[in-house]
Amino acid sequence: MDINLLNFNATNLTNFCGEIGERPFRAKQLLRWIHQSGEDDFANMSNLAKVLREKLSVTAVVKPPQVISEHISADGTRKWLMDVDAGNGVETVYIPESSRSTLCISSQVGCALECTFCSTGRQGFNRNLSVAEIIGQLWWANKVLAATKKETVSRVKSFDSETRQVFPSGHNYRVSNVVMMGMGEPLANFENVVSALDLMLDDNAYGLSRRRVTVSTSGLIPAMDRLSERCPVALAVSLHAPNDMLRDQLVPINKKYPLKELLAACQRYLNTAPRDFITFEYIMLAGINDSVAQARELVKLVKDTPCKFNLIPFNSFPNSGYRCSSSDAIDRFRNVLMQAGLVSTVRRTRGDDINAACGQLAGKVLDRTKRKSHVTMEAAR
Ligand code: SAH
Ligand code: SF4
Repeated sequence: MDINLLNFNATNLTNFCGEIGERPFRAKQLLRWIHQSGEDDFANMSNLAKVLREKLSVTAVVKPPQVISEHISADGTRKWLMDVDAGNGVETVYIPESSRSTLCISSQVGCALECTFCSTGRQGFNRNLSVAEIIGQLWWANKVLAATKKETVSRVKSFDSETRQVFPSGHNYRVSNVVMMGMGEPLANFENVVSALDLMLDDNAYGLSRRRVTVSTSGLIPAMDRLSERCPVALAVSLHAPNDMLRDQLVPINKKYPLKELLAACQRYLNTAPRDFITFEYIMLAGINDSVAQARELVKLVKDTPCKFNLIPFNSFPNSGYRCSSSDAIDRFRNVLMQAGLVSTVRRTRGDDINAACGQLAGKVLDRTKRKSHVTMEAAR
């Protein structure tokens, strides 16, 4: 059976090279070819001995998930649907900005955690993505961007104003930041996500700094502790409520890992984190968690935790049952946080014309938990 080299971080690739009788430096060369040059054909890896290239072509492959469709938003955001077998698909979103380009990566097919406002959670859980399927999203994005660069350079020469708008000048056509905020709970797929993170940080692969790679979690405390030891990248924690009673409803995993313990875990994470604060994500749901009193309660809750807030306007999806807070309500909420000295930004919604915004990613999930029928029935009532 062909071995997919996209599944290997540096350690595993070195072991693989050992198994086929090759020296460790070959692993470095392979990493560079695969991840820096985006090469998937061993025949083109010119600094590898011919015998090795032939050996690899009969034992191994470089196989990212296949892209089924691409959507490009008016604001330049791109969304790719990736085939992950058996009728399942996950989504990856690329968000270009003038100073950085961020890739939002999925970690699971669906999600088992059932947050009530999340389209992925509503679909149920199918399976974890492999390392190749996770890092393959970044591999693919950089490859498309490199191709776009070539194309754009020739088009811009002919003064194509549309292209200039989509890719602002100075854009470097390479992913500079990764956020694990796509479909799934990254810390529920710990080993594969961490191997993919290793590759993102590896100088022979993507060479991103730990500050530019963010894992977002709904608060799986034991896995947060393991991440802080194994691969402490920037951490975003989905808070969404100022007390356990409301959080139990919105983020059901809170019943297992309640707020007091979650905040203590955030404090521990800061010992190894690349930044001196935790980012708290807080979704703005009209009439549910957006009152001034709740903002004050939130201020009290986090008073001992160095943090910043990212307020996320709720992005709707069919039969969600929620509405986004008004911009006045968001401003009032934000002002309470700011007056208490908490840096708070409102996340600008990107790509919502192609359903690429936070929590709208649906992909194609064949639910193995069989909860979908329940949701469909609810929606039909
Ligand atoms: N499972 C992880 C990461 C994926 S979700 C987590 O929950 O943190 C990424 C972010 O999108 C989370 O903060 C999540 O709460 C938020 N989100 C989910 N559904 C949303 C929606 N419909 N509108 C806006 N944000 C949403
Ligand atoms: Fe899963 Fe995150 Fe969605 Fe909750 S918000 S259901 S943890 S993907």
